[in-house]
Amino acid sequence: MAGNQANAGDLLHLVRSGRATTRGALQEVTGLSRATVGHRLDRLFRAGWLREGAAETVNSRLGGRPSIHLEFDDTHAVVLAAALDTRHARAAVLTLSGEVLAEYTDPLTVEDGPERVLSQLGVWFGDLLKEAGRAADAVCGIGLAVPGPVDTDSGRVIQPPIMPGWDGYDIRGRLARSAAEHAATAPDLPVLVDNDANLMAYGEQRAGHPDCRAFVLVKVSTGIGAGVVVDGAIFRGIDGGAGDIGHIRVPQGADALCRCGSYGCLAAVASGRALARRLTEAGVPAASGWDVRELLAAGHPEAVRLAREAGRGVGEVLATVVTLLNPGVLMIAGDLAGTPFLTGVRELLYQRALPRSTAHLDVVTARLGERSALIGAGALVVEELYAPERAERRLAALGV
Ligand SMILES: [Zn+2]
Repeated sequence: MAGNQANAGDLLHLVRSGRATTRGALQEVTGLSRATVGHRLDRLFRAGWLREGAAETVNSRLGGRPSIHLEFDDTHAVVLAAALDTRHARAAVLTLSGEVLAEYTDPLTVEDGPERVLSQLGVWFGDLLKEAGRAADAVCGIGLAVPGPVDTDSGRVIQPPIMPGWDGYDIRGRLARSAAEHAATAPDLPVLVDNDANLMAYGEQRAGHPDCRAFVLVKVSTGIGAGVVVDGAIFRGIDGGAGDIGHIRVPQGADALCRCGSYGCLAAVASGRALARRLTEAGVPAASGWDVRELLAAGHPEAVRLAREAGRGVGEVLATVVTLLNPGVLMIAGDLAGTPFLTGVRELLYQRALPRSTAHLDVVTARLGERSALIGAGALVVEELYAPERAERRLAALGV
Protein backbone atom coordinates (compact mmCIF):
# COMPACT_ATOMS: atom_id res chain seq x y z
CA MET A 1 0.00 0.00 0.00
CA ALA A 2 1.54 3.27 -1.08
CA GLY A 3 0.55 6.27 1.03
CA ASN A 4 -2.37 8.17 -0.48
CA GLN A 5 -3.00 5.33 -2.93
CA ALA A 6 -4.85 3.32 -0.25
CA ASN A 7 -8.21 2.29 -1.68
CA ALA A 8 -11.33 0.91 -0.01
CA GLY A 9 -9.93 -2.62 -0.26
CA ASP A 10 -6.83 -1.51 1.64
CA LEU A 11 -8.92 0.15 4.36
CA LEU A 12 -10.95 -3.05 4.75
CA HIS A 13 -7.73 -5.00 5.13
CA LEU A 14 -6.48 -2.63 7.82
CA VAL A 15 -9.72 -3.04 9.76
CA ARG A 16 -9.86 -6.83 9.36
CA SER A 17 -6.25 -7.28 10.43
CA GLY A 18 -6.83 -5.08 13.48
CA ARG A 19 -4.08 -2.64 12.43
CA ALA A 20 -6.48 0.30 12.26
CA THR A 21 -10.07 0.09 13.45
CA THR A 22 -11.19 3.72 13.78
CA ARG A 23 -11.45 6.55 11.25
CA GLY A 24 -8.65 8.37 13.05
CA ALA A 25 -6.36 5.35 12.98
CA LEU A 26 -7.08 4.79 9.29
CA GLN A 27 -6.16 8.42 8.54
CA GLU A 28 -2.97 8.03 10.52
CA VAL A 29 -1.88 4.75 8.88
CA THR A 30 -2.79 5.68 5.29
CA GLY A 31 -2.09 9.41 5.35
CA LEU A 32 -5.47 9.97 3.67
CA SER A 33 -7.61 12.97 4.58
CA ARG A 34 -10.61 12.60 6.84
CA ALA A 35 -12.94 13.22 3.86
CA THR A 36 -11.26 10.59 1.68
CA VAL A 37 -11.32 7.98 4.43
CA GLY A 38 -15.00 8.80 4.95
CA HIS A 39 -15.75 8.44 1.24
CA ARG A 40 -14.00 5.07 1.03
CA LEU A 41 -15.62 3.79 4.19
CA ASP A 42 -19.02 4.76 2.78
CA ARG A 43 -18.45 2.33 -0.09
CA LEU A 44 -17.71 -0.43 2.41
CA PHE A 45 -20.81 0.46 4.45
CA ARG A 46 -23.00 0.49 1.32
CA ALA A 47 -21.69 -2.96 0.36
CA GLY A 48 -22.56 -4.16 3.87
CA TRP A 49 -18.98 -5.28 4.45
CA LEU A 50 -18.20 -2.98 7.36
CA ARG A 51 -20.23 -1.86 10.35
CA GLU A 52 -19.80 0.52 13.23
CA GLY A 53 -19.41 -1.05 16.63
CA ALA A 54 -18.88 0.32 20.10
CA ALA A 55 -17.11 3.59 20.82
CA GLU A 56 -13.45 3.13 21.67
CA THR A 57 -11.81 4.78 24.64
CA VAL A 58 -11.20 8.47 24.32
CA ASN A 59 -8.13 9.29 22.29
CA SER A 60 -6.66 12.61 23.43
CA ARG A 61 -4.87 13.22 20.11
CA LEU A 62 -8.23 13.37 18.34
CA GLY A 63 -9.57 16.12 20.55
CA GLY A 64 -10.87 13.87 23.28
CA ARG A 65 -13.86 12.58 21.35
CA PRO A 66 -14.66 8.90 21.59
CA SER A 67 -14.00 7.19 18.25
CA ILE A 68 -16.32 4.62 16.77
CA HIS A 69 -14.85 1.16 16.39
CA LEU A 70 -15.13 -0.23 12.85
CA GLU A 71 -15.55 -3.93 12.29
CA PHE A 72 -15.89 -6.41 9.44
CA ASP A 73 -19.54 -7.42 9.11
CA ASP A 74 -19.25 -11.20 8.98
CA THR A 75 -22.99 -11.68 8.48
CA HIS A 76 -23.32 -10.03 5.07
CA ALA A 77 -22.43 -13.21 3.20
CA VAL A 78 -21.75 -16.91 3.74
CA VAL A 79 -19.27 -19.41 2.33
CA LEU A 80 -19.99 -22.95 1.17
CA ALA A 81 -17.20 -25.36 2.04
CA ALA A 82 -16.60 -29.05 1.51
CA ALA A 83 -13.84 -31.50 2.33
CA LEU A 84 -13.46 -34.76 0.44
CA ASP A 85 -11.80 -37.78 1.94
CA THR A 86 -11.47 -41.06 0.12
CA ARG A 87 -14.75 -42.50 1.39
CA HIS A 88 -16.41 -39.68 3.28
CA ALA A 89 -17.20 -36.07 2.63
CA ARG A 90 -18.24 -33.18 4.80
CA ALA A 91 -19.94 -29.98 3.70
CA ALA A 92 -21.06 -26.86 5.50
CA VAL A 93 -22.37 -23.33 5.33
CA LEU A 94 -19.97 -21.03 7.20
CA THR A 95 -20.10 -17.43 8.27
CA LEU A 96 -17.29 -15.20 7.08
CA SER A 97 -15.57 -15.69 10.43
CA GLY A 98 -15.74 -19.46 10.14
CA GLU A 99 -18.70 -20.24 12.35
CA VAL A 100 -20.55 -23.36 11.18
CA LEU A 101 -24.21 -22.56 10.42
CA ALA A 102 -25.17 -25.94 9.00
CA GLU A 103 -23.10 -29.06 8.42
CA TYR A 104 -23.53 -32.47 6.84
CA THR A 105 -21.33 -35.54 6.51
CA ASP A 106 -21.95 -38.82 4.76
CA PRO A 107 -20.13 -41.56 2.89
CA LEU A 108 -19.10 -40.31 -0.55
CA THR A 109 -16.49 -42.20 -2.52
CA VAL A 110 -13.91 -40.09 -4.26
CA GLU A 111 -13.20 -43.02 -6.62
CA ASP A 112 -16.70 -42.62 -8.07
CA GLY A 113 -15.18 -39.73 -10.02
CA PRO A 114 -15.68 -35.98 -10.18
CA GLU A 115 -19.05 -35.91 -12.01
CA ARG A 116 -20.88 -37.87 -9.39
CA VAL A 117 -19.07 -36.49 -6.34
CA LEU A 118 -19.34 -32.81 -7.33
CA SER A 119 -22.97 -33.21 -8.35
CA GLN A 120 -23.71 -34.70 -4.92
CA LEU A 121 -21.95 -31.80 -3.18
CA GLY A 122 -24.25 -29.41 -5.06
CA VAL A 123 -27.28 -31.26 -3.68
CA TRP A 124 -25.85 -31.07 -0.15
CA PHE A 125 -25.17 -27.35 -0.53
CA GLY A 126 -28.81 -26.77 -1.51
CA ASP A 127 -30.08 -28.58 1.59
CA LEU A 128 -27.54 -26.91 3.87
CA LEU A 129 -28.44 -23.40 2.70
CA LYS A 130 -32.09 -24.11 3.52
CA GLU A 131 -31.11 -25.47 6.92
CA ALA A 132 -28.96 -22.41 7.61
CA GLY A 133 -31.83 -20.17 6.53
CA ARG A 134 -29.63 -18.22 4.13
CA ALA A 135 -30.52 -17.19 0.58
CA ALA A 136 -28.52 -18.42 -2.39
CA ASP A 137 -27.46 -14.88 -3.26
CA ALA A 138 -25.75 -14.57 0.14
CA VAL A 139 -23.12 -17.10 -0.94
CA CYS A 140 -19.88 -15.34 -1.90
CA GLY A 141 -17.77 -18.37 -2.75
CA ILE A 142 -17.06 -22.08 -2.41
CA GLY A 143 -14.00 -23.75 -0.91
CA LEU A 144 -13.13 -27.40 -1.54
CA ALA A 145 -10.48 -29.57 0.09
CA VAL A 146 -9.33 -32.63 -1.86
CA PRO A 147 -6.96 -35.48 -0.92
CA GLY A 148 -4.50 -34.87 -3.76
CA PRO A 149 -1.96 -32.38 -5.12
CA VAL A 150 -3.65 -29.26 -6.54
CA ASP A 151 -2.48 -26.66 -9.02
CA THR A 152 -4.17 -23.76 -7.24
CA ASP A 153 -3.99 -21.46 -10.29
CA SER A 154 -6.30 -23.75 -12.24
CA GLY A 155 -7.98 -25.51 -9.30
CA ARG A 156 -7.20 -28.88 -10.90
CA VAL A 157 -5.65 -31.90 -9.25
CA ILE A 158 -2.46 -33.24 -10.80
CA GLN A 159 -1.91 -37.00 -11.05
CA PRO A 160 -3.62 -37.73 -7.74
CA PRO A 161 -2.74 -41.28 -6.62
CA ILE A 162 -5.92 -41.76 -4.57
CA MET A 163 -8.33 -39.82 -6.82
CA PRO A 164 -8.61 -41.87 -10.02
CA GLY A 165 -10.51 -40.05 -12.76
CA TRP A 166 -9.83 -36.57 -11.36
CA ASP A 167 -6.53 -35.80 -13.07
CA GLY A 168 -6.81 -32.39 -14.80
CA TYR A 169 -10.59 -32.27 -14.36
CA ASP A 170 -12.24 -28.82 -14.23
CA ILE A 171 -13.36 -29.04 -10.61
CA ARG A 172 -14.13 -25.33 -10.27
CA GLY A 173 -16.42 -25.16 -13.29
CA ARG A 174 -18.27 -28.35 -12.42
CA LEU A 175 -18.77 -27.46 -8.75
CA ALA A 176 -20.01 -23.95 -9.58
CA ARG A 177 -22.51 -25.44 -12.09
CA SER A 178 -23.60 -28.10 -9.64
CA ALA A 179 -24.17 -25.54 -6.87
CA ALA A 180 -26.05 -23.28 -9.31
CA GLU A 181 -28.26 -26.19 -10.35
CA HIS A 182 -29.05 -27.58 -6.90
CA ALA A 183 -28.60 -24.58 -4.61
CA ALA A 184 -29.51 -21.74 -7.03
CA THR A 185 -26.21 -19.94 -6.40
CA ALA A 186 -24.67 -17.64 -9.03
CA PRO A 187 -23.24 -19.68 -11.92
CA ASP A 188 -19.97 -17.73 -11.85
CA LEU A 189 -19.39 -18.14 -8.12
CA PRO A 190 -15.67 -18.17 -7.21
CA VAL A 191 -14.54 -21.71 -6.34
CA LEU A 192 -11.28 -22.35 -4.59
CA VAL A 193 -9.72 -25.82 -4.54
CA ASP A 194 -6.76 -26.84 -2.44
CA ASN A 195 -5.09 -29.88 -0.99
CA ASP A 196 -6.69 -31.10 2.24
CA ALA A 197 -3.48 -31.12 4.28
CA ASN A 198 -2.84 -27.50 3.24
CA LEU A 199 -6.33 -26.42 4.28
CA MET A 200 -6.20 -28.39 7.52
CA ALA A 201 -2.91 -26.70 8.35
CA TYR A 202 -4.36 -23.30 7.48
CA GLY A 203 -7.51 -23.86 9.57
CA GLU A 204 -5.64 -25.25 12.56
CA GLN A 205 -2.89 -22.63 12.52
CA ARG A 206 -5.40 -19.78 12.48
CA ALA A 207 -7.65 -21.32 15.11
CA GLY A 208 -5.11 -22.50 17.64
CA HIS A 209 -1.63 -21.22 16.79
CA PRO A 210 -2.04 -17.80 15.19
CA ASP A 211 1.35 -16.60 16.45
CA CYS A 212 3.27 -19.62 15.15
CA ARG A 213 5.30 -18.40 12.17
CA ALA A 214 6.28 -21.85 10.92
CA PHE A 215 3.57 -24.47 11.29
CA VAL A 216 3.50 -28.01 9.88
CA LEU A 217 0.53 -30.36 9.86
CA VAL A 218 0.84 -33.97 8.79
CA LYS A 219 -2.33 -35.76 7.78
CA VAL A 220 -2.18 -39.53 8.05
CA SER A 221 -5.34 -41.10 6.73
CA THR A 222 -5.69 -43.27 3.65
CA GLY A 223 -2.72 -41.35 2.26
CA ILE A 224 -0.05 -39.19 3.92
CA GLY A 225 0.45 -35.50 3.21
CA ALA A 226 1.73 -32.39 4.93
CA GLY A 227 0.58 -28.77 4.95
CA VAL A 228 2.99 -25.95 5.72
CA VAL A 229 1.92 -22.49 6.89
CA VAL A 230 4.67 -19.88 6.96
CA ASP A 231 3.99 -16.35 8.25
CA GLY A 232 0.26 -17.02 8.12
CA ALA A 233 0.14 -18.16 4.49
CA ILE A 234 0.06 -21.65 2.99
CA PHE A 235 3.43 -22.53 1.50
CA ARG A 236 2.74 -24.49 -1.70
CA GLY A 237 6.09 -24.47 -3.46
CA ILE A 238 6.25 -23.41 -7.12
CA ASP A 239 3.38 -25.56 -8.38
CA GLY A 240 1.52 -26.99 -5.41
CA GLY A 241 3.89 -29.87 -4.74
CA ALA A 242 5.15 -28.79 -1.31
CA GLY A 243 4.32 -31.16 1.53
CA ASP A 244 3.67 -34.26 -0.56
CA ILE A 245 5.77 -36.37 1.80
CA GLY A 246 3.78 -39.59 1.36
CA HIS A 247 5.85 -40.60 -1.63
CA ILE A 248 9.29 -40.23 -0.13
CA ARG A 249 11.01 -43.64 -0.30
CA VAL A 250 11.75 -45.25 3.04
CA PRO A 251 14.07 -48.24 3.56
CA GLN A 252 11.52 -50.39 5.38
CA GLY A 253 9.15 -50.17 2.41
CA ALA A 254 11.37 -51.74 -0.26
CA ASP A 255 8.80 -54.30 -1.44
CA ALA A 256 5.62 -52.37 -0.68
CA LEU A 257 3.74 -51.19 -3.78
CA CYS A 258 2.30 -47.70 -3.46
CA ARG A 259 -0.86 -46.34 -5.11
CA CYS A 260 1.38 -44.00 -7.10
CA GLY A 261 2.93 -47.01 -8.86
CA SER A 262 6.31 -46.90 -7.11
CA TYR A 263 7.69 -49.23 -4.48
CA GLY A 264 8.80 -48.18 -1.04
CA CYS A 265 6.87 -44.96 -0.48
CA LEU A 266 6.17 -43.84 3.08
CA ALA A 267 2.43 -44.06 2.28
CA ALA A 268 2.87 -47.69 1.24
CA VAL A 269 4.05 -48.67 4.74
CA ALA A 270 2.67 -46.12 7.21
CA SER A 271 -0.68 -44.83 5.88
CA GLY A 272 -4.15 -45.86 6.97
CA ARG A 273 -4.47 -47.87 3.77
CA ALA A 274 -1.20 -49.72 4.45
CA LEU A 275 -2.29 -50.50 8.00
CA ALA A 276 -5.70 -51.66 6.83
CA ARG A 277 -4.01 -54.10 4.46
CA ARG A 278 -1.67 -55.42 7.14
CA LEU A 279 -4.50 -55.80 9.63
CA THR A 280 -6.57 -57.67 7.06
CA GLU A 281 -3.61 -59.99 6.39
CA ALA A 282 -3.42 -60.60 10.15
CA GLY A 283 -7.07 -61.66 10.19
CA VAL A 284 -8.54 -58.33 11.33
CA PRO A 285 -10.69 -57.05 8.45
CA ALA A 286 -10.16 -53.36 7.63
CA ALA A 287 -10.75 -51.67 4.28
CA SER A 288 -9.49 -48.13 4.84
CA GLY A 289 -7.92 -45.63 7.19
CA TRP A 290 -11.40 -45.01 8.53
CA ASP A 291 -11.69 -48.66 9.64
CA VAL A 292 -8.24 -48.48 11.25
CA ARG A 293 -9.40 -45.43 13.16
CA GLU A 294 -12.35 -47.38 14.53
CA LEU A 295 -10.07 -50.25 15.60
CA LEU A 296 -7.72 -47.77 17.30
CA ALA A 297 -10.64 -46.13 19.10
CA ALA A 298 -11.61 -49.56 20.40
CA GLY A 299 -8.02 -50.15 21.55
CA HIS A 300 -7.43 -53.16 19.31
CA PRO A 301 -3.90 -54.33 20.31
CA GLU A 302 -2.65 -55.17 16.79
CA ALA A 303 -3.95 -51.85 15.44
CA VAL A 304 -2.25 -50.02 18.31
CA ARG A 305 1.05 -51.82 17.68
CA LEU A 306 0.95 -51.08 13.95
CA ALA A 307 -0.02 -47.43 14.52
CA ARG A 308 2.99 -46.90 16.75
CA GLU A 309 5.25 -48.55 14.18
CA ALA A 310 3.71 -46.35 11.46
CA GLY A 311 4.37 -43.32 13.68
CA ARG A 312 8.03 -44.28 13.83
CA GLY A 313 8.15 -44.53 10.02
CA VAL A 314 6.57 -41.11 9.61
CA GLY A 315 8.76 -39.70 12.39
CA GLU A 316 11.85 -40.71 10.46
CA VAL A 317 10.77 -38.59 7.48
CA LEU A 318 9.61 -35.79 9.77
CA ALA A 319 13.10 -35.53 11.27
CA THR A 320 14.18 -34.16 7.89
CA VAL A 321 11.12 -31.96 7.55
CA VAL A 322 11.69 -30.44 10.98
CA THR A 323 15.38 -29.88 10.31
CA LEU A 324 14.58 -28.07 7.07
CA LEU A 325 11.70 -25.90 8.31
CA ASN A 326 12.38 -25.47 12.04
CA PRO A 327 8.64 -25.26 12.86
CA GLY A 328 7.21 -24.23 16.21
CA VAL A 329 4.32 -26.66 15.95
CA LEU A 330 4.15 -30.07 14.31
CA MET A 331 0.55 -31.22 14.29
CA ILE A 332 -0.51 -34.79 13.58
CA ALA A 333 -4.00 -35.17 12.11
CA GLY A 334 -6.10 -37.72 10.27
CA ASP A 335 -7.40 -41.23 10.90
CA LEU A 336 -4.25 -42.48 12.63
CA ALA A 337 -3.68 -39.42 14.83
CA GLY A 338 -3.79 -40.64 18.39
CA THR A 339 -1.52 -41.58 21.25
CA PRO A 340 0.13 -44.71 19.76
CA PHE A 341 0.99 -42.98 16.48
CA LEU A 342 2.14 -39.81 18.24
CA THR A 343 4.36 -41.86 20.55
CA GLY A 344 5.99 -43.47 17.51
CA VAL A 345 6.53 -40.09 15.84
CA ARG A 346 8.15 -38.63 18.95
CA GLU A 347 10.44 -41.65 19.45
CA LEU A 348 12.00 -41.28 16.04
CA LEU A 349 11.82 -37.51 15.75
CA TYR A 350 13.74 -36.72 18.91
CA GLN A 351 16.22 -39.48 18.19
CA ARG A 352 16.98 -38.43 14.61
CA ALA A 353 16.54 -34.67 14.45
CA LEU A 354 19.17 -32.31 15.85
CA PRO A 355 18.32 -31.14 19.39
CA ARG A 356 18.48 -27.57 18.04
CA SER A 357 15.58 -28.30 15.62
CA THR A 358 13.30 -29.75 18.27
CA ALA A 359 14.17 -27.57 21.28
CA HIS A 360 11.14 -25.30 20.80
CA LEU A 361 8.97 -27.73 18.89
CA ASP A 362 5.52 -28.77 20.09
CA VAL A 363 4.28 -32.07 18.67
CA VAL A 364 0.50 -32.01 19.05
CA THR A 365 -2.74 -33.46 17.69
CA ALA A 366 -5.39 -31.50 15.80
CA ARG A 367 -8.00 -29.57 17.75
CA LEU A 368 -10.64 -28.76 15.14
CA GLY A 369 -11.03 -32.49 14.60
CA GLU A 370 -13.03 -33.50 11.54
CA ARG A 371 -13.72 -29.91 10.70
CA SER A 372 -10.20 -28.59 10.16
CA ALA A 373 -10.12 -28.85 6.34
CA LEU A 374 -13.61 -27.40 6.10
CA ILE A 375 -12.77 -24.46 8.35
CA GLY A 376 -9.50 -23.92 6.46
CA ALA A 377 -11.32 -23.97 3.10
CA GLY A 378 -13.84 -21.39 4.33
CA ALA A 379 -11.11 -19.16 5.75
CA LEU A 380 -9.08 -19.26 2.56
CA VAL A 381 -12.11 -18.26 0.47
CA VAL A 382 -12.68 -15.25 2.74
CA GLU A 383 -9.01 -14.23 2.72
CA GLU A 384 -8.90 -14.39 -1.09
CA LEU A 385 -12.20 -12.60 -1.71
CA TYR A 386 -11.52 -9.79 0.76
CA ALA A 387 -7.82 -9.32 -0.02
CA PRO A 388 -7.27 -5.62 -0.95
CA GLU A 389 -7.17 -5.83 -4.76
CA ARG A 390 -9.87 -8.46 -5.08
CA ALA A 391 -12.09 -6.56 -2.62
CA GLU A 392 -11.65 -3.36 -4.64
CA ARG A 393 -12.64 -5.16 -7.87
CA ARG A 394 -15.66 -6.75 -6.20
CA LEU A 395 -16.80 -3.40 -4.79
CA ALA A 396 -16.61 -1.91 -8.28
CA ALA A 397 -18.62 -4.86 -9.63
CA LEU A 398 -21.26 -4.24 -6.92
CA GLY A 399 -21.51 -0.67 -8.15
CA VAL A 400 -20.74 0.95 -4.79
ZN1 LIG B 1 3.92 -43.46 -3.67
